[in-house]
Amino acid sequence: MLFQVVTIFPELIDAFARVGLVAKSVEAGILRFEALSPRAFTSDKHNSVDDAPFGGGSGMVMLPEPLALTMEAHDRSAAAAGLSRSLRVLLTPQGRVFTQADARRLAALPGLMLICGRYEGVDERVHALVDEQISIGDFVLNGGEVAAMALIEAVSRLLPGMLGNAQSLDEESHAAGLLEYPHYTRPRSFRGHDVPAVLLSGNHAAVARWRRKQALLRTRAQRPDLFAQLALDATDRALLAEAEDEA
Ligand code: SAM
Repeated sequence: MLFQVVTIFPELIDAFARVGLVAKSVEAGILRFEALSPRAFTSDKHNSVDDAPFGGGSGMVMLPEPLALTMEAHDRSAAAAGLSRSLRVLLTPQGRVFTQADARRLAALPGLMLICGRYEGVDERVHALVDEQISIGDFVLNGGEVAAMALIEAVSRLLPGMLGNAQSLDEESHAAGLLEYPHYTRPRSFRGHDVPAVLLSGNHAAVARWRRKQALLRTRAQRPDLFAQLALDATDRALLAEAEDEA
């Protein structure tokens, strides 16, 4: 999958692409990165990418023309690689909040273009040049790069071949509207807290049952909003009733 990033700090994306699983996936040809700076598409002697807002006020606003030219350069690059134009996503705290469902939807695309704002954000007319506006949460970052990297990780780990154990994706938090069950590793006893006996029993069916019950209880306790949307089956209801008896 091709990730095309529009950023005044391409070195952030270059560094990100050189570390850990992302780097391995680049080497394996699963991921490809192109980060272009709008500064390279300016014509004034200061290579300006921002200017003061019309109407006054604090902060600077990103100029639309260098952003548009950078997006078009990415389009040409995708075309040269035989790919269709990448979906253009503007990272903004005003966008729809990104979810695992978005990650799944975007992971099916051949390419994604992520436009990172800085300063007070981008000139409003840039909105007409993008396909979607996405936020990674109800808080404000200095720039879109960290948001882009979060989105890239969430999307790319769903791609075939990216993770050693693809099965773990099915059980992960948010994969099926549930938070994931608790995990334990060595030692069996840590500072007075023991690993639940069922996990040491070797009984795979009992382990699966326990994990499902823990996932249900954890989701109900920590994310009642998600729990309210679950379609519980008879087994789930029995597990929850069992937990109430145990309490
Ligand atoms: N003045 C803008 C506002 O109040 O909506 C905030 C601009 S923010 C300081 C600069 C850039 O950071 C934004 O253009 C956007 O690209 C990025 N950014 C900040 N918070 C974000 C979030 N929660 N999700 C995605 N991008 C974000």
